Amino acid sequence: MDCIFCNIAQKKAEAFIVYEDEDSIAFLDIFPSAKGHTLVIPKKHYENIQAIPDKDFGKMMVAVKKTANAVMKAMASNGVNLVLNNGKAAGQLIMHLHFHIVPRFDNDGLKLSFLNKKAEKEELEKVCGEVKKYF
Ligand code: AMP
Ligand code: ZN
Repeated sequence: MDCIFCNIAQKKAEAFIVYEDEDSIAFLDIFPSAKGHTLVIPKKHYENIQAIPDKDFGKMMVAVKKTANAVMKAMASNGVNLVLNNGKAAGQLIMHLHFHIVPRFDNDGLKLSFLNKKAEKEELEKVCGEVKKYF
């Protein structure tokens, strides 16, 4: 099975990693909905919430919380959307469970979409460095 998120978790594919622990890894979305858009995944391949055991989902949620707090501080945002597209019908394109963390600002007018323009590498490196500071 060739899964881009497994490859990222195993460091076989490039990613802008902001946080990792034994079970989870958080990295920037390279097609961000907003600056600082971050994804959190379990290191083990689970396709969806039906597949992941409760214990592992709990660990993932702790990583999501930590990462959301760091992203909010780094981006100085006053809100954040936590989104999990579960299943193809719900817009899941990558079949490795992941949470989106999207920074939000008052009246930013953002219409959430997960089909966006690719960010510049320099910009991703800069944002990655900023977010890492807040763990
Ligand atoms: P979803 O529609 O919930 O499956 O979202 C998949 C997300 O993965 C999208 O927001 C993509 O921009 C993002 N994505 C795809 N490939 C990569 C990659 N190599 N590194 C980081 N993010 C990616
Ligand atoms: Zn995978």
